[in-house]
Amino acid sequence: MPIAEFNLINRFFKQKFPIRKDVVLGIGDDAALCTAPAGMQLVMAMDTLVEAVHFPINTKPEDIAYKALAVNLSDLAAMGATPAWMTLALTCPKVDEVWLRRFSQGLLELATAAEISLIGGDTTRGSLTVTIQVTGFVEPELALQRNAAQPGDAIYVTGTLGDAGLGLAAIEKRITLYSEMQNYVESRLNRPTPRLKEGKQLIGIANACIDISDGLLADLNHILTASKVGATLNLENLPLSKALQSIDRKTAVELALAAGDDYELCFTVPANKKPLIAATRIGTIEQQLGLRCLDKQGKIFASEKYGYEHFS
Ligand code: ADP
Ligand code: MG
Repeated sequence: MPIAEFNLINRFFKQKFPIRKDVVLGIGDDAALCTAPAGMQLVMAMDTLVEAVHFPINTKPEDIAYKALAVNLSDLAAMGATPAWMTLALTCPKVDEVWLRRFSQGLLELATAAEISLIGGDTTRGSLTVTIQVTGFVEPELALQRNAAQPGDAIYVTGTLGDAGLGLAAIEKRITLYSEMQNYVESRLNRPTPRLKEGKQLIGIANACIDISDGLLADLNHILTASKVGATLNLENLPLSKALQSIDRKTAVELALAAGDDYELCFTVPANKKPLIAATRIGTIEQQLGLRCLDKQGKIFASEKYGYEHFS
């Protein structure tokens, strides 16, 4: 890249960022060098955000950066891993100093909180696209996976569901909310909270874990398929924020079940264990394959919108 652009990268992505002790060589050479802690397994994940696909046009640059890192950290959280290093591939239409400063500020905020170092990346010209790759650590054999749910396990989720979906609906003016609630759901959409602490605390407790990026039904289905089990969900137990409770109940349940981008953890716990984190029990893993959603009266919940087999 031209020297002027390199200086910007240096200014916004090198000088400001905290460098961990295990980073031997960070930004500035052909590649980075890091020291892995003895005996630990490395956990790696990557996620790309494309403008207008993964975030609305006009999303603030600081929020784009924050979210790009948050969704990656959420994948590490779902494995029970501790984050350490990241690389950043940034494609933008032009080199805009103000935009880059704000972007780096958003990235720095979450990177500092998560104690993760930016060790390198690539900068290219094109439609706005942000790819972050993260590396973390986990004790051998202990990583949380999707494939070990057992019949009888209780199903839990952290936080509340459907907020990000409601945030998007509000931004796109499909649903009108009071401004206080609008602010809340927009911040849930733009700045998801990666459940890193919770993921680590689930090690040795949860049989299976996944982060909810595509909606509860879709992501729980990944656990069910990988574990070769089924489940029943009790919809009256879905954790809904005040914002979700303020809208039509059926729409709220549909958002909680099928809207993506919440980045909460969904995990299963055997009957003889209890999760020591804030989470809500929403159902049970069963031998019978498929996913059954029961409403308060014990009837199968019907939705025209989401064509899963368990819906009538
Ligand atoms: P090369 O041509 O050797 O691939 P680059 O010119 O792409 O090197 O990058 C120079 C240095 O700046 C490298 O250390 C690279 O990791 C780092 N870098 C480039 N873009 C970014 C970015 N967006 N974020 C962090 N580091 C970056
Ligand atoms: Mg390069």
